Amino acid sequence: MECISHNDNEEKKECSTVEREGKEQEEILQLRQQNLELKAALEASEAENRAKTSFLSSMSHDIRTPMNAIMGMTSIGLSHIDEKSRVLDCLQKIKTASTHLMSLVNDVLDMSRISSGRMTLNEEEFSLADLIHDMTIIVRPQAAQKHQEFQMEIGQIYEEKLIGDPLHLRQILVNIIGNAVKYTQEKGLIQVSFSQHREKDPAKRDRQVWLDFCCKDNGIGMSEEFLKRIFIPFERVNNEKISRIEGTGLGMSIVKNLLDLMNGTITVESEEGRGSCFYVSIPFVAVTGDEEIYHLPEGQTVLLAESVDSRAEQIDAYLRERSLDIVHCKNGMDAVTWLTEAQYENRMPCALILGQELADMPALGLASHVRELAGKEFPILWVAEVDWAQMEYRAVRSGVDAFVPCPLFKTRLFSALSGLTGKEIKDKKDPVGNITDYGKYRILLVEDNELNREIAVELLSVTGVQVETAENGQQAVEAFENSEEGYYHLIFMDIQMPVMNGYEAAKRIRQLERADAKTIWMVAMTANAFVEDIRLARAAGMNEHCSKPVDMERMHEILRRRLRE
Ligand code: ADP
Repeated sequence: MECISHNDNEEKKECSTVEREGKEQEEILQLRQQNLELKAALEASEAENRAKTSFLSSMSHDIRTPMNAIMGMTSIGLSHIDEKSRVLDCLQKIKTASTHLMSLVNDVLDMSRISSGRMTLNEEEFSLADLIHDMTIIVRPQAAQKHQEFQMEIGQIYEEKLIGDPLHLRQILVNIIGNAVKYTQEKGLIQVSFSQHREKDPAKRDRQVWLDFCCKDNGIGMSEEFLKRIFIPFERVNNEKISRIEGTGLGMSIVKNLLDLMNGTITVESEEGRGSCFYVSIPFVAVTGDEEIYHLPEGQTVLLAESVDSRAEQIDAYLRERSLDIVHCKNGMDAVTWLTEAQYENRMPCALILGQELADMPALGLASHVRELAGKEFPILWVAEVDWAQMEYRAVRSGVDAFVPCPLFKTRLFSALSGLTGKEIKDKKDPVGNITDYGKYRILLVEDNELNREIAVELLSVTGVQVETAENGQQAVEAFENSEEGYYHLIFMDIQMPVMNGYEAAKRIRQLERADAKTIWMVAMTANAFVEDIRLARAAGMNEHCSKPVDMERMHEILRRRLRE
């Protein structure tokens, strides 16, 4: 018994020793684990501190540089106030520096929103065609300024109407293409393409589609070593060539963060001295069951005049899909001959689609011939890659009824063609008369800051449009309420104002019991960075936004578009 009990005791002792050792081991492991965690936390906080310090030093440098230019140039301008060319030169430099400063501030605000988790994505319906078109308007002039060739290709697109965040998508595209332009020499080549692929997961396949975007340039490129750091804030290639190119080193990290939020991907290939290629893929929900109905003259013939084969093939494929017959001519004279015969034999086509180029004459030359030959009512549609704002006057004078911009989207072509040939829109108006005649239109400009108000009034007044002002939202609502219906044609509304802000004012105007309260076009004037503001502005019933500080081009573009409708 004793022995047993002795053994028992021994065993117990042994057991408790083993237990104790086990516990100690566990504790040691726990301590080690805690140590590791503490070390990691310390490292993370040190890294964060380092990042903050480097952020602050980069920021103060990056803000100071353009600020110095602005202040220096202002002083030089003031001391040479009577020398027009000198002052002009100073003003141009101030403009460049302030644009740069603005983009820096916007980038920093975006970065801070992202890193604090305050950046939220919008979920709204948007048209891919409109988005790509808007984006092209921003980047094409940048490339043109450097005499670069800018090519854009649209591949297979399954869904044009998508749900997602169009403003942030545009920001991603503009950043990447903007860099391609920036880091490519004069007369270089920028190639951009868009296409879609279907979702592979069968559960999501019905609703989800991936947008694939590629931007290729033959610019200065990047080393393999730098590519590993390209998405880190403030990282820039550190060499002679780059130091002369303005930039903050924030664009790519914003792009990467936004793509992460969108569940998208980005890969970059690059070779120093040869160029770079950015591939982006983003999932979007497709809007289904909302197909627009186009009244296309199915079974009829369309005359297509275009010498560039790839363009003609694309138009041809789209129209055949809707059972239209195509007669394709590469020469203007062939088209005229064919049309003359068709007229004689009483088998006129339902429209002429004029392309980008003809082998023997300018596209608009053919438009004039056809207008003369076929009469006032014959529909002429121009599908081309031109700056419509610049060409509009000449095009309409030459007889063009409607314009469809390239890159070409099916829905735009169908909508324009059905508008011209279909039953519902037959009362074609002559848009020429209104182009420069702004004098009869009245704008309400709502802005609390006196200097900003003065600038905006000045920018708007050069068009001849009548401008009335209000100093806050309350005054704006009252001015609108006390005016006759249709008195104002457009409202430019600041957002942050005392007494009543822009959102509230827009909401109240929309709620007024009068017909024009629902239809008046309201443009929010927001700081570029606040994508969130734009979303709120839309929710308040505003139609679009222009960024502050206000840009003359953008304001005039809005006037041109809105007042002519
Ligand atoms: P930045 O404001 O300097 O352009 P980004 O974050 O947009 O900042 O880009 C980071 C850096 O990556 C750039 O400074 C440049 O060195 C490099 N980079 C980005 N895009 C390109 C490109 N297309 N070609 C060559 N270098 C590029």
